[in-house]
Amino acid sequence: MRALVYHGPGKKAFEERPDPVLVDASDAIVRITRTTICGTDLHILKGDVPTVAEGRILGHEGVGIVEQVGGSVTNFAVGDHVLISCISSCGRCANCRTGMYSHCESGGGWILGNLIDGTQAERVRIPFADHSLYPIPAGVDEEVLVMLSDILPTGFECGVLSGAIKPGDSVAIVGGGPIGLAALLTARFYSPAEIIVVDVDDNRLEAAKRFGATWIVNNSDGQAVERVMALTGNRGVDVAIEAIGQAATFDICQAIVTAGGHIANIGVHGKPVQLNLDKLWSHNITLTTRLVDTVSTRMLLKSVVAGKLQPTQLITHRFPLAQVLKAYDTFSQAKEERALKVILTNE
Ligand code: ZN
Ligand code: ZN
Repeated sequence: MRALVYHGPGKKAFEERPDPVLVDASDAIVRITRTTICGTDLHILKGDVPTVAEGRILGHEGVGIVEQVGGSVTNFAVGDHVLISCISSCGRCANCRTGMYSHCESGGGWILGNLIDGTQAERVRIPFADHSLYPIPAGVDEEVLVMLSDILPTGFECGVLSGAIKPGDSVAIVGGGPIGLAALLTARFYSPAEIIVVDVDDNRLEAAKRFGATWIVNNSDGQAVERVMALTGNRGVDVAIEAIGQAATFDICQAIVTAGGHIANIGVHGKPVQLNLDKLWSHNITLTTRLVDTVSTRMLLKSVVAGKLQPTQLITHRFPLAQVLKAYDTFSQAKEERALKVILTNE
């Protein structure tokens, strides 16, 4: 089969690889129908994620058809149409029993396209298939479902739930990429009074406006903090969501959070940041970090099916899987290409 393979920082190739085979009885082999590229894949290619070994097939999002199941898989059969979770989990260990699937003690967690081969391929092996795949209801648009593998649960769990957004809150989302926009779409479940989106890319900010942002702030001149403070009557925001993974954006969150507020970090950080405890220690701030657990996938899937959540708007580009290198170029030049999510189809 053909797959997108990581060959160390800055290096990747679309090349021939052996088809995956069943290893454990709880595995399934899924033929990918649609997949996508994540900001995390760009972090991997920059060398920010040292757990990814050279030779790894990237990708942790996708939809497909079950082609083989191991002897202990009971929830899925050959031919089933499935959504792949970016988090693989046994569902049985102590951490899984508390819903912290991202830290599954049986060897699960975020392993796809990280510790094991991922979804940017014609086929993928899914460990713990019973607990890591979701059946797809008939008639749902496949492209939309790809948004449920990672970005919607991540924006919702790590941003909205960890940030404890309440009705009437002022919310700032620092970073208007796909993850920031997923946080924006799902923040609206809780009717915050205002949502301010900060970015340096006008295209992303216009998308944020279309998705329901109350205010947009272009930080190209580095004045985001002053503008957010002015928009909130110098009070700051109840919830500051960091959706980039850089020291500068984390600093903005620290500067704009109001007393009693939450800073919810989503971004993948490749370097340390400064924590301004000298200013925050007395301000009753809650700072959260989290890897998505995908505990909200079923709920989000129902919301999408019911039309309450419309993530189609996140998809800006479509390519056949064979053009995955072109898709990477497009996605990594998001500003010039006006790209949000790119869909890759394995015909
Ligand atoms: Zn991702
Ligand atoms: Zn587990």
